[in-house]
Amino acid sequence: MPDNIINNIKNIIEKEPQLFLDYDGTLVPIVNDPSNCYADNELLYILKKLNYYYETFIVTGRPLEDIIRFIGNYNIIALHGDIYFINNKKIKTPDFDKFVDICNDLYKHRSYYTDKFKNLRVYNKTGGLLFHLGNVKDVNERNDIVKFVEDIADKNSMDVYNGINIVELRMPGINKGNSIKNIRNKNRPAIIIGDDITDEEAFYYNNDAVTIKVGNTKTIAKYRINYNDVRPLLLYLINLK
Ligand SMILES: [Mg+2]
Repeated sequence: MPDNIINNIKNIIEKEPQLFLDYDGTLVPIVNDPSNCYADNELLYILKKLNYYYETFIVTGRPLEDIIRFIGNYNIIALHGDIYFINNKKIKTPDFDKFVDICNDLYKHRSYYTDKFKNLRVYNKTGGLLFHLGNVKDVNERNDIVKFVEDIADKNSMDVYNGINIVELRMPGINKGNSIKNIRNKNRPAIIIGDDITDEEAFYYNNDAVTIKVGNTKTIAKYRINYNDVRPLLLYLINLK
């Protein structure tokens, strides 16, 4: 674990930092079956302890129900910020229901795109629509799917997000960055950890925070660690208390 992260954390620990942790690729490995990403015992232990000592939020692109099923009841920012689950209370952003309807309709007619792209998997995130490219090996087909999703986004005034093996239709104007910013205690520092392109927005909108990128891809985060160093870092945070 890099010394400079440890030093920075030691400097802010007295000010009770809030933690904002991505899930997939940060707390659990990226797998090809997104429906089966249950937290293992070690992670459950880490989350329980972290949440006890720090104000902790899981910030994910997943639907709220998914993440509660995987980890239990914690503070969660779901669907990149369409839905907040704070102290066991669910808060929806305005317009959320309108986009749930749009996504339900697009999902209902999914054969229109799954017939065309045989290896494409589509998941209705209710409020978002996920196009999974994990089984799409052909580069041209991948590019065609991205163009196709951009076109649907245009027609429905939605945003497109590109992630690792995924393209996603999302509610417009909502991202992890402004979601975290909205919920932060402005008088306290924050530690934000994430691995994906959507986490870059979290880093961008919270540039005063201790921002930590997981993995080797391009980042604006202050620090970078490997996936295998995330849990040791979180255990280190627990042990500081
Ligand atoms: Mg991630």
